[in-house]
Amino acid sequence: MPHTFRGRLSHVRGQLRFIIAIVSLFLAVGVGALWRRSEKIIEFVELRWGHVPRAEEYSCYLLNLQFYDGLLRAQLRRDYFEPEVFKGKADNWKRDFHEAFPIGWDGSVSSDAIANLSSTAEREISHEHAVSSAWEGHREDIWTFVFPQWPLLIPFLLLPAWRAIQFIRSRRLKKAGCCAVCGYDLRASPERCPECGTLTPAAST
Ligand SMILES: [Zn+2]
Repeated sequence: MPHTFRGRLSHVRGQLRFIIAIVSLFLAVGVGALWRRSEKIIEFVELRWGHVPRAEEYSCYLLNLQFYDGLLRAQLRRDYFEPEVFKGKADNWKRDFHEAFPIGWDGSVSSDAIANLSSTAEREISHEHAVSSAWEGHREDIWTFVFPQWPLLIPFLLLPAWRAIQFIRSRRLKKAGCCAVCGYDLRASPERCPECGTLTPAAST
């Protein structure tokens, strides 16, 4: 453990970055497993998240994610009601909405979703914006995006990959007798790098 406050701070920061990189790697494994699974098994993992309006709210959002065939289908739905219409229909509509779209996640598939899948449009990269209305004074906006799942891995792999490169680089520099941070030659000053001020492990023991 380095003795100076700055040294200790950079030590803690380094450890924190390491933990974040590990967590990120685990998430990447999870995303990768979901992708591989959904490619083999034509089955959904469906995530629904949103909120049902309370008394004086006239709109609500629902995000629906479906993983299948190596694809992710993300659908954002916005329902809007004119206040006068909503007051009359609120209770019925809330009940219908809860039944049709229970918030949560589900490993099973609705027959509607299977019917949608049989159309090729749902198996290609696409996006669309549809507007429809179930009642007068009601409007629903639906944005649908279908895209491959594998690019979702990239953000989760960036940090671990960068950490791995840094680790290999600093080990190589240390072996060569150089500063692990900036690469300055430390043979003349083995305790502390004169270029960037980094303490070497020899100095902290
Ligand atoms: Zn240095």
